[in-house]
Amino acid sequence: MPVEAVVLESCLGRILREDIVADTDYPRFDKAIRDGFAVRAKDVVQVPAVLRISGESRAGQAASVTVVPGTCCEIMTGAQLPEGADAVVMVEHTEPASESEVRILRPAREGDGLLRRAAELRSGESVLSSGRRIQLADIGTLANFGKPQVLVSRKPRVAILATGDELVEVGESPEGGQIRNSNSYTLHAQVVAAGGEPVLLGIGRDTLEDLRMQIGRGLQHDVLLVSGGVSMGKYDFVENVFAEYGVDVLFESVAMKPGKPTVFGHRNDTFVFGLPGNPVSTIVAFRMFVTPVLQSLLKSAPSGPQMLRARLDMAAICDSSRTAIVPALVRFEGESYWIKTAPWKGSSDLAGLSRANALVVIPQAEGSLQPGDVVDFLSLE
Ligand code: AMP
Ligand code: MG
Repeated sequence: MPVEAVVLESCLGRILREDIVADTDYPRFDKAIRDGFAVRAKDVVQVPAVLRISGESRAGQAASVTVVPGTCCEIMTGAQLPEGADAVVMVEHTEPASESEVRILRPAREGDGLLRRAAELRSGESVLSSGRRIQLADIGTLANFGKPQVLVSRKPRVAILATGDELVEVGESPEGGQIRNSNSYTLHAQVVAAGGEPVLLGIGRDTLEDLRMQIGRGLQHDVLLVSGGVSMGKYDFVENVFAEYGVDVLFESVAMKPGKPTVFGHRNDTFVFGLPGNPVSTIVAFRMFVTPVLQSLLKSAPSGPQMLRARLDMAAICDSSRTAIVPALVRFEGESYWIKTAPWKGSSDLAGLSRANALVVIPQAEGSLQPGDVVDFLSLE
């Protein structure tokens, strides 16, 4: 994706496309981190010690005094440390001794109560690297280093087309064999979460004419997601239409359950997915295949699903032909995650997926896994 400039107010979660270097030391001066008195540590080895107050240093307005032996300077958090001082005693550890003197009640060592110039970052030091997903603290850092706007990846525009003669829109009442279109909305949410800009194309019917028109529109975007119509059914025309448009299909089937009929290809710069229509399959196929493509388009640093490890709470039978990705319940107990599959009725069971908090990976293998065996999982939280 090309870059665009965005203001700080709208950069959260975007992918940074420039390296940010500290343009000053941070802090820029030796700074008090307590309200109290700037002192010479040598003067407060023995306490109580009475020191004459020679001035005041407040945030934004440094004192022009020099702290000489036997004196101190009143100072506020964030203010510049005056010449001669090398520690700040917090006000709670002092009491007034007279109009112009303070009694220090606790000893302070050199460096107490202050932050030295450049303690956090040195001018010229690299702060944030291109490819980083901008987080909350980064926004403050960008502000610190004088970046009212930053270069980020333009969001890929991702067209979403649901297909199926049985589909009606969410606000409509299904009749006969009809069902409501849910995939458009789960895909929309997944696109947003992955950093893309979703474009809903609505529902395409299972006819060559309608799919030609809708897929033709979809191919104008950076990515096209078509849900349904990629299985072996008599009215599954999506791949035919991909072929008519010259989509270069790289794979059309994956050894994964659910999600076997996942199609991936491209036409020129547009990446094209045919995702299985079953709602849970659609979600899983997006997570496994579309998310990494969007990360790559965005030039986002880490790519691919981020798996964690857990111990199985139960036995699980493996499938020798496919990797199974199953809704599961994971909990942390003792020193590790424990996981078991959640009750669900197969790849249309969205309510079952709602009750789960993870997807567990049961590897493609002969035989079965035993309780305590280590498996990979993806958190849904
Ligand atoms: P298909 O891949 O077109 O054969 O669809 C597989 C199953 O998923 C069928 O039961 C469809 O009714 C269902 N399905 C397809 N598209 C959607 C959608 N957009 N929303 C909800 N269910 C769908
Ligand atoms: Mg269909």
